[in-house]
Amino acid sequence: MLKSNRSRLQELIERFSQFGATANGGVTRLSLSDEDVLARDYFCEVCKELGMTIQVDDMANIYATLPGKKECPPIVIGSHLDSVEKGGRFDGVLGILTAIEAIRTLQENEIELEIPLMLVNFTNEEGARFDPAMMSSGVLASKFTKEKMLQSTDKNGITFQEALQASGYEGQQANRLMEALAYIELHIEQGPVLEATQRDIGVVEGVLGMVCYEITVTGESNHAGTTPMKMRKDPMIVASRIISSLHEQLGEIDDELVFTFGRMNVAPNIHTVIPNKVVFTIDSRHQNPTIMREVEKLLTGLPSEENGCHIRPVKLWGRDTVVFDAAICDEVEKSCQNLGYTSNRMYSGAGHDAQFIAGFIPSAMIFVPSINGKSHCEEEETTYEDCAKGSDVLVASVLSLQKKLSLAENVH
Ligand SMILES: [Zn+2]
Repeated sequence: MLKSNRSRLQELIERFSQFGATANGGVTRLSLSDEDVLARDYFCEVCKELGMTIQVDDMANIYATLPGKKECPPIVIGSHLDSVEKGGRFDGVLGILTAIEAIRTLQENEIELEIPLMLVNFTNEEGARFDPAMMSSGVLASKFTKEKMLQSTDKNGITFQEALQASGYEGQQANRLMEALAYIELHIEQGPVLEATQRDIGVVEGVLGMVCYEITVTGESNHAGTTPMKMRKDPMIVASRIISSLHEQLGEIDDELVFTFGRMNVAPNIHTVIPNKVVFTIDSRHQNPTIMREVEKLLTGLPSEENGCHIRPVKLWGRDTVVFDAAICDEVEKSCQNLGYTSNRMYSGAGHDAQFIAGFIPSAMIFVPSINGKSHCEEEETTYEDCAKGSDVLVASVLSLQKKLSLAENVH
C-alpha cells in the first residue's frame, strides 16, 4: 500500500494556515477575500508544479487536472479553501491538501493514471461571507440559480458578482464540472464520534436530513410591576413550556435524533416589560425520513393558542437525507482495511459540497477525527498523523476506483 508523506503534508497544512492566520491559531479566510485569493494563487502554483492543467468556471470553482491514459470523465477529489470567521486550519482546506499530497504520493511512486484525476476547490462553501452555504456546488447541481447568487451581498454591501470580478477568478461557464466518474471529498468530522469510538477514519454514507422551523409566540406587553400574574399574556412563559415539552417528546422519538433551539428573539427585550413576542428556532436532523416526518408532525401540531398567546410554526427550510454511492463507500472501507486503519460507517450531520455533487456524480466522503469534536472555531484540531492516514485512504480509494472504473465497459 502506498503511504503519503506526513511531514510533507504537515508543511503544506502549515503553509496554507498562514493565509488568513488569526492571533489564536485559527484562520479567517472568507470566500473571495484577499486571503482566499492568496490561498487560491498558491494552490494553482502548487498544482502547476505538479504538471496539472488549471481551469476556472464562472462561479470561480478551480479545477486542476492530471491527464490519464484514457480520454474519459475524471475522478474528482477536493473540497473548499474558504473558512468561517475565526475558523480552524482544517475545515475544507484539508480535503484539498490531502488531495495534493495524494497526487504527490502517486507521482513519486511513478503510478500512471488510466483515468484523469481532477482536484477541485469549490467557491463559498461556508456561506460565511455570502449566503447561502455550498453556493457554487449548489449552482453546479442546479439547486441555486447563478443570477440569484450573484446578487448575494456581504455585510459591507459587496455583491458576490463584484467580489467575483475583483478576485480575478471569474472563469468560463463552459468549464463547469458536469461529468465525472466519481467524487470523493475528505473532510474533518466536525464532531466527537470518531475520537470517542477510537476510529481512524469515518466512511461517510450520506448527509442527515434536516428541518428548521421558526416558532413565533405572540402575547401582550405590559408593565412588569403593575400587571398581576393571572392577567398576563406572556409569550416567554409559553415559549419556555413549548421548548421543554418538545425537548421531552423529541427525545423519546429516537436516540439518534438531534435537535437544537439555537436562536431566540424577545421583543421588546426590556427587563421591566412583559414581552409581546418571542421567536425561536428549532433545527432537527436524522437520517431516516420517517423519523423526520414524525418531528414535523409534532412541530406543525403545536396548539395554536395557549394562555392567551398565539403560537405559529413556520418551516424555514429543510433538506432530504442524501445517500452517497454505496460502491464508493465500499472502496473507501476496503482501503481502510487494507491499510490496517479502523473505520466507522457514519452519516454527516453537517452539510458539505458532496451532498449537492452527489446529485449528478457518484460521490462519497472520508472523515478524519476532530480533537474534542471542535470545528468552526480556532481550537479546531486534527493530528497530522490522522491527516496523513486520511491521505493514505484517499490515495488507496482513488487507485482502486481507477482500476475498477477503467475496467468498466463505458470507459474507453
Ligand atoms: Zn467544510
